[in-house]
Amino acid sequence: MTQPDLSSPRIAVVGGGIAGLAAAHRAVELDPRCQVTLFEAGPRPGGVISTLHRDGFQVERSADNFITTVPFGLHLCKRLGLGEELISTNPAFRRTFVVRRNRLRPLPDGFLMMAPTRLWPLAVTPLLSPWGKLRAACEYFIPPRTDDADESMADFVRRRLGNEVFDRLVEPLVSAVYAADMQRLSVLATLSRFREMERDHGSLIRAMRRQIKHRPKGHPGESGARYSLFVTLRDGLSRLVETLTSRLPADSIRLNTPIEKIELHDGKWRLFFPTHPSSLIPHPSDFDALILATPSWMTARLLEPVDSTLAGELAAIRHEGTAIVSLGYSDRQIGHPLDGMGAVMPAVEQSPILAVSFSSRKYPHRAPPGKTLLRVFVGGSRRPDLAEMPDDALLPLVLRHVEKILHVRGAPGFIDLAHWPRTMPQYHVGHKDRIARIETRIATLPRLRLAGNAYHGVGIPDCIHSGETAAERILADFS
Ligand SMILES: Cc1cc2nc3c(=O)[nH]c(=O)nc-3n(C[C@H](O)[C@H](O)[C@H](O)COP(=O)(O)OP(=O)(O)OC[C@H]3O[C@@H](n4cnc5c(N)ncnc54)[C@H](O)[C@@H]3O)c2cc1C
Repeated sequence: MTQPDLSSPRIAVVGGGIAGLAAAHRAVELDPRCQVTLFEAGPRPGGVISTLHRDGFQVERSADNFITTVPFGLHLCKRLGLGEELISTNPAFRRTFVVRRNRLRPLPDGFLMMAPTRLWPLAVTPLLSPWGKLRAACEYFIPPRTDDADESMADFVRRRLGNEVFDRLVEPLVSAVYAADMQRLSVLATLSRFREMERDHGSLIRAMRRQIKHRPKGHPGESGARYSLFVTLRDGLSRLVETLTSRLPADSIRLNTPIEKIELHDGKWRLFFPTHPSSLIPHPSDFDALILATPSWMTARLLEPVDSTLAGELAAIRHEGTAIVSLGYSDRQIGHPLDGMGAVMPAVEQSPILAVSFSSRKYPHRAPPGKTLLRVFVGGSRRPDLAEMPDDALLPLVLRHVEKILHVRGAPGFIDLAHWPRTMPQYHVGHKDRIARIETRIATLPRLRLAGNAYHGVGIPDCIHSGETAAERILADFS
């Protein structure tokens, strides 16, 4: 087997989304001598992350912020010198609404994704019937599950808190994040801390209340904390992509260069891609190490000739598509006060919308003075057809529902539709076991790592972590 030149290993990164960029950046950050080449199929880096500036509006065409409790996004921004550009959600508008019979009702105060931290707001919410509230309160006394087996989010929440809390609160909140079918979404792969709470405290309500009691001062979201639970960059998340790109060596990013085939020859990874007359790199090219930061369905296709069992496991991770419809209005056109960050829509409401974000309330500089920017999230496993529906059919459908729930008069003056087919990996029951099997097989291949949203978390900080960890492990293989 040919030994790589340890002084300046050649590393290929395939996929220029946030995971691939974080991997390439981490490699040169740790070892400026390594030669990194990043191959991106599309015309721009960033993958789904894309900020649009038009007509005075600043629109995030997919992700609009990231969580601070998973620290890798914050850490990377600070290392890149973007710390001063991070902005928190507007404290005046931190509440979330849930739609019930076309009316927006505030999520009970203290309800955190899956469980209440305060009982009184739950007792008085109009979102639940008296029976639903009583059933939720019984959670305190329901014996915990004792085994470690996975289960669906729907089964877990119905078992602990009852059908109503699931249908009216948890399902819409979790759907808005994972765009997933709750009957299949794995609780262990997505929100395992709630199973840990059940195991360690016997009840979610008891665990949440204890945590609140012992929470250190300055927890995200509390007054005095440096950042809120979610943050973004003042000029949009594309700033992160641009800054990462600018820190990579000149000519290390190959745009419009889809990798079509991968072969393993004598311990080196051979990459095949279409040649451009202007390209300076030979075709095909050999690399000492390879990081695949492509969506897992593409990673499966690329690895099929190398290890078909591994490819089969990767191909079994299902993906759904979503679309974001951004709408700009004059403030006067909207009857609802929009006194929150946005609204989520339970599946039982039978609406095509998953959620509406009140973007210009959530963060500053999203809309010109006197204007409002709304971002409507559709698709996912609830309505997969909407992710690829033609704009002229999708727009009227979305407008009809937005007008009804937010009392909007007249047409929007600004419209942008962004379609993201096959971009949301679905962490179905058994996902963690599948990832363990994938990692076992990856370990048998020389200097190959996977990164991206299909494995250990879909959020931006998790994707950054996956890319950085892949780069660190590759470099460790050379030391
Ligand atoms: C609509 C939407 C809203 C979201 N909102 C949030 C949010 O608010 N906060 C949050 O934290 N997360 C959010 N997410 C999730 C998060 O943005 C993504 O999980 C993350 O950005 C994915 O990064 P990635 O690098 O894994 O994949 P991608 O961004 O999909 O990048 C993969 C890249 O690989 C390239 N590629 C594919 N095949 C090849 C090939 N053969 N050769 C070369 N290149 C190839 C693609 O062109 C693409 O650029 C959202 C996602 C979506 C779709």
